[in-house]
Amino acid sequence: MKADQTVGVGGANPYLVRIAPGLIDDGEALAAALRGRHALVVSDDNVAPLYAARVENALTAARPGLRVSRWVMPAGEHEKTLARFAECVEALAALGATRDAAVVALGGGVVGDLAGFAGACWMRGIDVIQAPTTLLAMVDSSVGGKTAVDLPTGKNLVGAFHPPRAVLADTTVLQTLPGRELRAGLAEVVKYGAIFDARFLDWLEGHVDPLLALDDATIAEAVARSCRFKAEVVERDMFEQGDRALLNFGHTFGHAIETEQGYAGASGAGLNHGEAVAVGMVLAARLSADLGLAPAADAERLTALLERFALPVSVPGGLAPEALLARMRLDKKADANGLRFILWERAGSARVVRDVPDDAVLAVLRGR
Ligand code: NAD
Repeated sequence: MKADQTVGVGGANPYLVRIAPGLIDDGEALAAALRGRHALVVSDDNVAPLYAARVENALTAARPGLRVSRWVMPAGEHEKTLARFAECVEALAALGATRDAAVVALGGGVVGDLAGFAGACWMRGIDVIQAPTTLLAMVDSSVGGKTAVDLPTGKNLVGAFHPPRAVLADTTVLQTLPGRELRAGLAEVVKYGAIFDARFLDWLEGHVDPLLALDDATIAEAVARSCRFKAEVVERDMFEQGDRALLNFGHTFGHAIETEQGYAGASGAGLNHGEAVAVGMVLAARLSADLGLAPAADAERLTALLERFALPVSVPGGLAPEALLARMRLDKKADANGLRFILWERAGSARVVRDVPDDAVLAVLRGR
């Protein structure tokens, strides 16, 4: 295992994902992705005080004459709005950003999505360099080119497909990430093994302790392998018309839980996204077993692994199964033919299943 890894993402606009300790101080690595004279560092008010000056100093040292400015948003999903997006593009205007300017998205998925969308829209599209600082952003949101902001009516409703020019994931920044956010990212890492490769699940089972201890080489290996899975899907299905949907394993149940709890994860009064996905994956695996599609032992194996990462594996108390079912009907993954789930045939092999009977869904939600 190496602490410095690179993953290529193909397609019409190929780019590299570099994963290594120290990248945010590596001016050459950052500047290599720049084409013009302007860079806007976009971050949030948790991440900027920790890392923004280091990125800016590294950039200006490597590229004297580069005009760098910073725009910082308040942290949190509820700030991923059109109003903040407008502020971000105004910051590009104030910088005098030209068509060859770059946006450097320094933060988690919220910053990555909003800054990516600003980059997609400014002068009809400029370069975006993703510098993810959460594990979730490293393994998921920074790769694949989906950018968006939320509306009061729903998440990610306004956005664009806009692949980044480069992704630079500095594994040392995870040291300051709250433990709960780290575990949320680990849920998404487990998801790749669950849907694509049982051998990756074997590997995760053998590396729980070094992952939780943030060993550089082990984290880099987990991020690189996750990015490779995501890259393969994105290359095959950029616009989510086919098997990119498999990435939603656990998400139909997970979204229903998040919505029913009123997205209270950040305040600690509910599950965050990764935690809800962990519960959702367990429910999807149990539903697969109940429908006779997959061995029950595989569901138990997945549950045991998630528990070792200290992730929740059952529906939180106080949520009515019927209310969760009603939420799932409103989810955008439901279609005219009824409820559609990503289920598995065994650990490492998922598929879309339509017309799942309500009774079977209610039974797993009730925990029997
Ligand atoms: P986030 O961006 O809200 O970050 C979580 C918290 O950690 C924030 O409070 C942030 O300030 C803080 N933080 C980030 N890095 C830190 C660090 N190194 N040290 C200390 N604190 C740090 O959440 P997230 O889980 O990274 O991303 C969730 C978002 O990603 C959602 O909006 C979701 O819709 C989006 N997403 C997008 C895609 C995609 O394909 N575009 C995929 C998955 C998720």
